Amino acid sequence: MLKDHHKWFENSIPLIASENIPSPAVREAIVSDFGNRYAEGWPGERVYAGCVYIDKVEVECMSLAKKLFKAEFADVRPISGVIANLVIYSAFSNPGDIMLAPSIPAGGHISHGKKEHFGTAGLVHGLEIEFYPFDAEEMTIDVDKTKKKVEELKTVGRLPKMAMFGGSLFLFPHPVKELADFFKSYNMHINYDAAHVAGLIAGNQFQDPLREGADTMTMSTHKTLFGPQGGLVLGFEKYGDAIKKATFPGLTSSHHIHHMAAKAITFAEALEFGKDYAKQVIKNAKALAEALNEFGFKVLGEKRGYTKSHQIAVNVLDYSDGGKVEVDLEKANIIVNRQLIPGDIKAGRNYFHPGGIRLGVSEITRLGMKESEMKEIASFIKKVIIDKKNPKKLASNVKSFRKNYQKVHYCFDNKLGAYEYVKLR
Ligand SMILES: *Cc1c(COP(=O)(O)O)cnc(C)c1O
Repeated sequence: MLKDHHKWFENSIPLIASENIPSPAVREAIVSDFGNRYAEGWPGERVYAGCVYIDKVEVECMSLAKKLFKAEFADVRPISGVIANLVIYSAFSNPGDIMLAPSIPAGGHISHGKKEHFGTAGLVHGLEIEFYPFDAEEMTIDVDKTKKKVEELKTVGRLPKMAMFGGSLFLFPHPVKELADFFKSYNMHINYDAAHVAGLIAGNQFQDPLREGADTMTMSTHKTLFGPQGGLVLGFEKYGDAIKKATFPGLTSSHHIHHMAAKAITFAEALEFGKDYAKQVIKNAKALAEALNEFGFKVLGEKRGYTKSHQIAVNVLDYSDGGKVEVDLEKANIIVNRQLIPGDIKAGRNYFHPGGIRLGVSEITRLGMKESEMKEIASFIKKVIIDKKNPKKLASNVKSFRKNYQKVHYCFDNKLGAYEYVKLR
């Protein structure tokens, strides 16, 4: 089944915005013996022996993370983006506090969510959530309405303790600069969740949250940042101690040392190739959005040129719904995900049959695709959704299209095929 999976991805167009393909060097670190070890604690303050080389790697990993994101402090141990957010909640708030966050149809992530939706912030840390007012035409947080909402919340004794920026449907930078001083005047802690856009921030092509007023920044290391599955917390030195303790002993025991080593390699690759990669990602996203728009698709964010990130959101209600489209595209070897879009909840649509799909171009950019390939991909998508061509037949066209893109780009060494199954025995 593992081999079948590798073969399938070799022949598919992977457009899941939260996924990417790591380099051969990253994959090598993942299968190393680090994956079988424990290194609880901080380099030099470990709970176990046997950490001589692990400590050296982790010190290097932290230093590369700080250099890449120009941060004073880095904790490379959180094992995922959700855990990284929980580190922030635990370090800077108490159960019962209020957090301002984007709602899910406005792009928020379930880890920012309410208890009644089983969102991590509410369910695990007992935070209460207030949603940012969202401007669906501009596809971002509404600054003036947000200020008004915070002032109203204050008058009813519900002043937020924390503000969360960032999200999972994330087309345009969030107004960190515009809101940071206002939030600070109410002593709110500002975290920026860069899970999706970390690779674009690393390449200096999106926004620079720590310079715009965010206190801390959390992320996954495997979305636009092309590393192993994992998390990372960054911030200013004054927050370091609280973050360090929340991560261990608070939220990790084993911190998946093989992934930590793979993060170090990823940061080094991002320092070397990250700018070129991020620029091409954004160019590709725009090219795919424009090509889809020319075929008649309703691409969200039209007013602002569709996207400034790796993502595109498409309203598919003219043809069917996001759930059905996802299934048809998958039969044609085009892997996307359905997406709740602004207006869905009010119209009674749910997560299984939402109004949209979300497309991400990071992985296909890593495979070496450029603007002209985006046009071909748009045309495959049109054939499935608008022309209702037989997706099974299209899968073989997709397979031949994919033949020329089998290596990972923007990395130190690509002798191993991108989806090559590695046999160790
Ligand atoms: C994906 C995502 C996360 C969760 O990251 P994991 O690494 O999957 O735990 C957190 N926040 C946002 C905004 C995300 O999109």
